[in-house]
Amino acid sequence: TLKRRVVAHLLRNQLREPLQKLLFHIGEVGDFLGQNVFVVGGFVRDLLLRQENFDIDVVVEGDGIGFAEEFGRRHGCRVRAHRKFATAVLVFPDGFKIDVASARTEYYLEPGALPTVETASIKLDLYRRDFTINTLAIAMNRAHFGELLDYFGGQSDLREKAIRVLHNLSFVEDPTRMFRAIRFEQRLAFQLGRHTEHLLKSAVRMGFLEKVSGPRVFNEMLLILREPDPLPAIARLDELGLLAYIHPRMSCRSEINRLLAAAKRTVDWYELLYTGEGCQRWQVFFLCLFSGLDESEVNQVLRHLGMPPRYAEFFGPERETVHRIVHQLEWRCSQRRNLSNSEVYRMLRELPIEALLYGMARTEHEEARRLMSHFVTHLRSVVSLIGGRDLQSMGLKPGPCYGEILNKLVAARLDGLVSTREDELRLVRRLLAG
Ligand code: ATP
Repeated sequence: TLKRRVVAHLLRNQLREPLQKLLFHIGEVGDFLGQNVFVVGGFVRDLLLRQENFDIDVVVEGDGIGFAEEFGRRHGCRVRAHRKFATAVLVFPDGFKIDVASARTEYYLEPGALPTVETASIKLDLYRRDFTINTLAIAMNRAHFGELLDYFGGQSDLREKAIRVLHNLSFVEDPTRMFRAIRFEQRLAFQLGRHTEHLLKSAVRMGFLEKVSGPRVFNEMLLILREPDPLPAIARLDELGLLAYIHPRMSCRSEINRLLAAAKRTVDWYELLYTGEGCQRWQVFFLCLFSGLDESEVNQVLRHLGMPPRYAEFFGPERETVHRIVHQLEWRCSQRRNLSNSEVYRMLRELPIEALLYGMARTEHEEARRLMSHFVTHLRSVVSLIGGRDLQSMGLKPGPCYGEILNKLVAARLDGLVSTREDELRLVRRLLAG
């Protein structure tokens, strides 16, 4: 039988009180319904690693949706049930969420396809998971509170810092796990186990990734590119032949590697300055990975990964626009003529922040980079002091001329030609007279 280690002290010492209470309430509802409940997966992994994680996944040996409904009634949560998967999301009044699932087992009828699902014991539920370090569970019911379930050697792999699959067919059943393996390996500074790395390489060699739908691969790429530092994971994807699956010519060697490093510095710089605003870092990194490909190759990738149209627009035509604008800026800088603020503004203002950051990383022209950075920090937020209402009260009929006038006001402000409201009003009168 399984030797159970008690980790109640970790729950007590590592977690803040509201979270401890929450776990206790989860056990209470399980007791009330006569069902075993566990927290599982990443939360437990990170608890043992002493790392903070607020993503709580609950597994109920029995009816997960019934559990969620009872918990929701008691604690004022909304319940979003997914009957097809026997799962539910508990949404607390403050927006905090908990995933609840019914313990289940999965059969893969075909490699790479989505699995067929049946309810099962917690042990079988844990067996369908990707890596041993994600198979740990902690009991929540009062009589067993804090007992750690470790059926597949998860604790020992945490100690050894090893990413290991549970069985030889794991990557064949679900090839997206290859991406996940690398994400965890690099995030946690672990290593793929020897046998696991061997299995991964064979799965790549045998082309199992071809069986996975593009959007699922895209989703795993997104998760990797959203990690705080995705560069080591990208290098590892390349080394193991996974980038080549996205496109045979996609790689992160030499030039692209330099570009990725510059993008990382630029994105970090931006996020340090604008903590509140943030940006879609992954888009900047994806642009870098695309930069070795021409337009038609990028389009192949977009189709292949089934990227949603809004992204397809960004990585397709918009990418061409950035290249053109950066090129123009570099050319104008090399003419050694000083560009006015309003000229810089006019060139760059249509670009989303992700495109600008990519442009900054991409250019090797010192002055062009300086101007882009100046645009980001100073120019892009400049607005005129007077607005449409003022123009109206000056007797001007609303129409496209409003936009033109306001643009001229911003340009004048950028170039230091106006500073007060009166300056602006005077300029408008001059424009109208002229
Ligand atoms: P993160 O810290 O990035 O949120 P996580 O371990 O919580 O990582 P999720 O993607 O939220 O990962 O998945 C939750 C759990 O579901 C994981 O712990 C894992 O065991 C399991 N899981 C997710 N995807 C797969 C998969 N493709 N195959 C098997 N198990 C998976």
